[in-house]
Amino acid sequence: MHEITSIRPLIASERSDGALRLSGEEMRELGYRVIDTLVEHFEELPDKPVTRRAGRAELDERLREPLPEYGSDAEEVFQRARHDVFEKMMHVDHPRFFAFIPSPSNFVGAMADALASGFNVFPGTWLEGSGPTEIELVTIDWLRQLCGMPESAGGLFVSGGSMANLTALAVAREVKLGTQMSEAVAYCSDQTHSSVDRGLRILGFAPHQIRKIPTDEKFRISMPELRREVAADRAMGHRPFCVIANAGTTNSGAIDPLPQLADFCQEEELWLHIDAAYGGAAILTEEGRVLLEGLERADSLTLDPHKWLFQPHEMGCVLLKERRFLKETFRIVPDYIKDADRKEEEVNLIDYGIQMTRGFRALKLWMSFQVFGLEGFRKAIARGISLAKFAEDVLRESPCWEVVTPAQIGLVTFRYVPEGWHPPEEIDALNRRLVEEMIEDGFAMISSTVMNGRTVLRLCTNNPRTTEADIRETIECLSRFGQELSLRTG
Ligand SMILES: *Cc1c(COP(=O)(O)O)cnc(C)c1O
Repeated sequence: MHEITSIRPLIASERSDGALRLSGEEMRELGYRVIDTLVEHFEELPDKPVTRRAGRAELDERLREPLPEYGSDAEEVFQRARHDVFEKMMHVDHPRFFAFIPSPSNFVGAMADALASGFNVFPGTWLEGSGPTEIELVTIDWLRQLCGMPESAGGLFVSGGSMANLTALAVAREVKLGTQMSEAVAYCSDQTHSSVDRGLRILGFAPHQIRKIPTDEKFRISMPELRREVAADRAMGHRPFCVIANAGTTNSGAIDPLPQLADFCQEEELWLHIDAAYGGAAILTEEGRVLLEGLERADSLTLDPHKWLFQPHEMGCVLLKERRFLKETFRIVPDYIKDADRKEEEVNLIDYGIQMTRGFRALKLWMSFQVFGLEGFRKAIARGISLAKFAEDVLRESPCWEVVTPAQIGLVTFRYVPEGWHPPEEIDALNRRLVEEMIEDGFAMISSTVMNGRTVLRLCTNNPRTTEADIRETIECLSRFGQELSLRTG
């Protein structure tokens, strides 16, 4: 292993003159240390455990201290962060991190973030950030085209899927309801991500204004149930205004019947928001394009480039079929911004969303697309889809494993069912224990969820640097834990 050694301590010559600067030499030294550490991280990650954790007491011991009155050597500070912070965490970009929705990231994206941060870019107004704004417009338009949305469509990069859902729902409320929210009702399936509930709550909707529609045997929203609920609400004098569809649920990757939902929303004059935070990226592949048919008909759409478009956190994206609705919802021009409110073609992205000061998120996706090309992305995403199928095949080799939902857009769910075990509650508990065992072991990371009332395990295989051996060994490891636990407790 390449060990980064301190050649000599960084001398902070000008550190105490109150200008908060380092000399050129000091900046280079710190910068090269950072780069070397990151390169080591990217190169050596597969050989490291996925999870390294410390207890609260240990970390308090190491890190809790008074705010330092006087500065110290940058090298020392950097080494503390390296050992006490970056080595005490789970690596969500590890090739054997299969839990939740992994964030595989990529080095080009990370360097773009360093640049955006170093130049402290402000892509909020054209006046302050013309080039950066243009990059955001271009990159958003690439995503619009990939999703097949019309030319009127556009959007914004935000912090993540949660913020994209909130932004989209704020527009839906503005366009469909104005300020009259009473009796309004939104509909989504019982598999919908919690950020939708949270977004509706923030926007002032009460729990009784959200209908959770049951799902079919493939965990897709039931169209007959949805029709029935909307009709019943109308009959009661309620005001249905919005349907939130899933294009890749977090639980199992299920995709709601998007074309039927789009037809239904059109007939009923309902807003159609599609949460494709995780699954939307699959549209870059042949298989995904078929599965995601109808995505292009969304009134609003959520994508999460920090998941399956391989960007470092934070990066979500909200696309609106009518870009102007964003502006109609969010634009306010106070006196102190008037100097920046100039020509129509000089787009001020602060008019399109919630944030005023905002990071230059577009750069990382733009640079990654430029460096790897769409071809590179297509292959990386296709790989995630086929790795989940491989995992399913491996699981089907052993009678101990029950596949609950087959591999779909990079996600497979399954359950360990030892021979002769019956009470489902005990099997649930055993499966939850498997996750705990894996966390303790650190070889890989998986997570569980509940489907139809039963605990199931999930593998999300969207990291393009995952190998088939990683998958096989992870499942073997789980099988071994399962055997040991069922012998002990069975
Ligand atoms: C991850 C996810 C979200 C939330 O996105 P964040 O980036 O974590 O805020 C919302 N919806 C779905 C379907 C997701 O997978």
